[in-house]
Amino acid sequence: MLGMPNIFQQLDLRLKKLLQSTKTAIFDPSSAVYTNRDLNLNQILLVGFDMDYTLANYYHQPMEQLQYQLTVEYLIRSKGYPDDIRELPYDPNLIIRGLVVDKKNGYLLKLDTHDRIWRAMYGRRQLSLEEAADLYANQKIRLGSSQYSSLDSLFTMSEACLYCNLIDYFEERHSQGMSLNPVEPLLDQTDHNRIINTAKLFDDVRQSIDAIHSDGSLKSIITQDMPTYINADPDIALTLHKFRKAGKKLFLLTNSYWSYTNCVMSYILGGKLPEYATWQSYFDIIIVGASKPSFFVDKKPFFEVDTKNPAQMIDQVGSIAVNDAEFSRHKVYMGGNLVDFERMAKCKGEQILYVGDHIYGDIVLSKKESLWRTCLVVEELQHEINFSIKYAKDLDRASTSDAKRLSLDDEIRQRRSLLFHIEVAAKNNDLEPKQIEHLLKISNKLRRELEDSQNMLHKLDKKSYLFQDKLEREFHSVWGRLFREQNQLSRFGAQVTYYACIYTSNLINLLQYSSKHIFRASGDFMSHDMALINTAQLAKKKR
Ligand code: IMP
Ligand code: MG
Repeated sequence: MLGMPNIFQQLDLRLKKLLQSTKTAIFDPSSAVYTNRDLNLNQILLVGFDMDYTLANYYHQPMEQLQYQLTVEYLIRSKGYPDDIRELPYDPNLIIRGLVVDKKNGYLLKLDTHDRIWRAMYGRRQLSLEEAADLYANQKIRLGSSQYSSLDSLFTMSEACLYCNLIDYFEERHSQGMSLNPVEPLLDQTDHNRIINTAKLFDDVRQSIDAIHSDGSLKSIITQDMPTYINADPDIALTLHKFRKAGKKLFLLTNSYWSYTNCVMSYILGGKLPEYATWQSYFDIIIVGASKPSFFVDKKPFFEVDTKNPAQMIDQVGSIAVNDAEFSRHKVYMGGNLVDFERMAKCKGEQILYVGDHIYGDIVLSKKESLWRTCLVVEELQHEINFSIKYAKDLDRASTSDAKRLSLDDEIRQRRSLLFHIEVAAKNNDLEPKQIEHLLKISNKLRRELEDSQNMLHKLDKKSYLFQDKLEREFHSVWGRLFREQNQLSRFGAQVTYYACIYTSNLINLLQYSSKHIFRASGDFMSHDMALINTAQLAKKKR
């Protein structure tokens, strides 16, 4: 009989990989899939994938550097920016995802789940917590208004870095009495002590980024040197294959246009597995130029793409509007909308799982506008989990200190209430002078204790804030953790929790789970549940 090692040797290479990855799944939490809402893969008939930053994993540094450089060139060439902005260096560590830009005032903000500001930056200068809190004191931040823009996708990292660099650059020019062209402040902006028209600056950067994405300049460089920009992990093909073997249909739904999609997908999937002659054969439905998120809300028609035309970087628009009863495996579609998609795919709502990286374009709107199940790919999760493992003891100390603060708060509340009752009782005319004296003694003692507890709480609050802030800065020196801020969820963390049914750092992590797997959520906790858990934990620690 063959021993286990021999059996392993005889396995086909692909199966070996699968087994190895199963081993990592058990031991490596940073490559697990996490669940917010129960999801039974067995009930999923159609699995959809976004392309950029989901199937196509870009290497950050070269990709962001390239976007940054091309945008700088565009600003100089087409928007009248000075030549020496070329010297402003790209800093890959300045920005994290999920921040919000206040275009009017030029701030970058990290908000929590209640849109409260925790961290803020102007140019590359970080503001203190007090300064940040003062910025919008008693003002509601209306994220839906055009004053704000969210940094939702990894594509926005270089744009935010450039924005900060340019704010500093123009502030410096102002201090030297040089021209602020083309971002002189509008007259009404001087009221706000703004030196620069930060809203125009943001719009200029945004339009320039848009242009380099759409005019082919960015994409032609990437497609000429794919290995520099894209990680074509062979496990991507295996992950898709595993779903297909389990009888699921697959679709591609990307905002990229046909010629770019074709180049990138050929690089990632072409020739990877013998069962698939071309990358298209992995998919039952291919939709490019989908214009997400409007795909989920508007009613644009599907067009058929003429794939026989020579590849152009600026895409030909499909010319034949399609209103077929169902999708054909041999066609490539462009545009479209959710309602026609479900009709033509003959699949609906909860039978569809969509895997994407863009919290708003791929996940929030698909969740709000449809019943699709959602899987968010958020690659920073790996770093955040490794951080939590490395600093487990400190994080535990921080949560114990939170629990202590809560329990001290509760003690203070009880003392106050007791004090109130004693003072009312002491005013009772029926009491003997001795009884009143006794009550006053107790109330004086309580008052002193109350003062001590309040002082202690104040010190604990401060100590706990400083400790947690230091810990956050171990993760990111300016912005802290991506999903959290101190003991709160960050705005990004809250969005992931509300809108993604499951989430993971890389789509290939799905390989480790059977196609019948039921992802189970650990349960929703409300504040009163947490209070009980904290009290129980504190009591256990005291024992
Ligand atoms: P998806 O993630 O596969 O849906 O595709 C994203 C597409 O959007 C890629 O083709 C990007 O080049 C493009 N894209 C990303 N950011 C911008 C932008 O700011 N303006 C225009 N296109 C963008
Ligand atoms: Mg994407």
